[in-house]
Amino acid sequence: MDVNAYAAPAAGAPLAPFTVRRREVGPDDILIDIKFAGICHSDIHQAREEWGGAIFPMVPGHEIAGVVTAVGSNVTKFSVGDHAGVGCFVDSCRECDNCKAGLEQYCVGHMVVTYNSTEADKVSPTYGGYSTHIVVDQGYALRIPDGLALDIAAPLLCAGITLYSPLRHWNAGPGTKVGIMGLGGLGHMGVKIAHAMGADVTLISHSPGKEDDARRLGADHFLLSSDKAAMSAARNSMDLIVNTVSADIDLNRPMSLLGLNGTMCIVGLPEKPLSVGAFTLTGQRRSIAGSNIGGIRETQEMLDFCAEHGFGSDVEVIAVQQVNEAWDRVVNSDVRYRFVIDIASLND
Ligand code: NAP
Ligand code: ZN
Ligand code: ZN
Repeated sequence: MDVNAYAAPAAGAPLAPFTVRRREVGPDDILIDIKFAGICHSDIHQAREEWGGAIFPMVPGHEIAGVVTAVGSNVTKFSVGDHAGVGCFVDSCRECDNCKAGLEQYCVGHMVVTYNSTEADKVSPTYGGYSTHIVVDQGYALRIPDGLALDIAAPLLCAGITLYSPLRHWNAGPGTKVGIMGLGGLGHMGVKIAHAMGADVTLISHSPGKEDDARRLGADHFLLSSDKAAMSAARNSMDLIVNTVSADIDLNRPMSLLGLNGTMCIVGLPEKPLSVGAFTLTGQRRSIAGSNIGGIRETQEMLDFCAEHGFGSDVEVIAVQQVNEAWDRVVNSDVRYRFVIDIASLND
């Protein structure tokens, strides 16, 4: 089936209309009529070739929410009419220890990333959610709970799980002091989720204008990273910082906010290697770590958690024709707090 999409034709070129061919619905597949697709900063990094190895034309989009319109003969998890989501991968090797443990995001075989990747055959390119339909194996699709509207649910498929997973792994909760660095798509979900888990939350931002929003979203404290006095006063005070910053910045000052045994978990993926001094680590036995999205089981748990707590993402819905302008605004930290494409506009 040929479907309407938007693609980046080459590195750094503006996105333009494109047609992709979706496979026939196989016995284990579902067909999703995509309603909304979130814009993740990773879409921009890849289409602007900031990470290397990009495949063009590229149809980005890995925050996909829609309605199931067909199911294969073996499908038990979904029925026609259900709300379903797709995140950053649509298949994995299914055989490695990580896949078997439900940690498909750390698959050491071939992980089939939703776009800018190849199918299990390692040849056919994958195309993402800036398109009207997607066919996906039921085991790699998520149920979107009733009570979560599809537009505010879409960003949870990447931004939500990318923050939920490390917050769970490092035991954010009552009695823990958590810093979230950067109030963008990922960061605003981090503030909401860490607050809902019961942690004491500090938003660390380079944007002076974001304090009111940070507090409204659930932050107990706001730290402006350029305020040297406030940064010094907060030294050694945090247990965990989840760093969502997309740009190349020095980590020594924010790392010094961590107390004894504190961890900075990197989720932001800037272009250049990170820089941190050895003294910053040894001084308080601090650690630096990383985390990559989440597995299918944990992503479902996160969606159910958000529905239970009554929140999704704070979104600005746009037509696909506005995507290039929206991408520039994301790069300028001018998004409140996730752009979501209304996929109906692809048929305009
Ligand atoms: P985003 O909406 O652009 O948010 C990034 C935030 O970083 C900005 O809002 C800004 O927050 C801060 N920032 C930007 N430039 C900065 C600078 N020069 N100095 C200091 N802070 C700066 O992006 P996103 O979609 O949340 O994605 C964030 C990063 O995570 C991207 O690199 C993306 O590729 C990566 N990512 C990783 C995973 C994973 O699994 N590990 C998953 C998804 C995305 P303030 O204005 O508050 O400072
Ligand atoms: Zn993403
Ligand atoms: Zn695997």
